[in-house]
Amino acid sequence: MDPYPKPLRDLIAQLKRLPGVGEKTATRLALFILADRQNLAEGLSRSLQNVHENIQLCSACFNLADKPRCSICQDPSRDSSLICVVEEPSDVLALESAHTYKGVYHVLHGLISPLGGVGPEDIRVPELMERLRHSQISEVIVATNPSVEGEGTFHYIEKLIIDGKFDTRVSRIASGIPMGGELKYMDQVTLASALRYRRLTKDK
Ligand SMILES: [Zn+2]
Repeated sequence: MDPYPKPLRDLIAQLKRLPGVGEKTATRLALFILADRQNLAEGLSRSLQNVHENIQLCSACFNLADKPRCSICQDPSRDSSLICVVEEPSDVLALESAHTYKGVYHVLHGLISPLGGVGPEDIRVPELMERLRHSQISEVIVATNPSVEGEGTFHYIEKLIIDGKFDTRVSRIASGIPMGGELKYMDQVTLASALRYRRLTKDK
């Protein structure tokens, strides 16, 4: 016999679908929501409905937005000739938290993965090329993760831009030794990449 009534069991089942939430956490959350009958359940259901209905993808950069254009694309102080290409919306949030980048973004919503059956047409690569064709873009900074798929996606985009003879520079974000890191603790891949992407501090 299940000691929990069905509506509660259903709520636990829904919460368990969230990443990182197992049976125990889901049960604890469900009981917590139930105990605070008035506020939490109401606010939560309103918010869930609201994000579902009102969040859309920006028609220019495919970042999350509550209007046809996201707040970054709408900001006149941003340099719209500089595009930073990222894998997902959470990468935009991470980069924005550094308060350094003043250009705009392009969110791919995935990475090219031949083994996973994801081709360039399955993510927002065609839309990126469309932006390059229709606006004056001085530089595309590819900020995908330094993984096999991230590197592969970078090389694919780089080749498209070179072959398409766009008057656009292509760059890759640096990767290597993190600030505060120590050489002796770095793995081979990180060290190799740190050497490969070294920067010149004095030219001759
Ligand atoms: Zn946008």
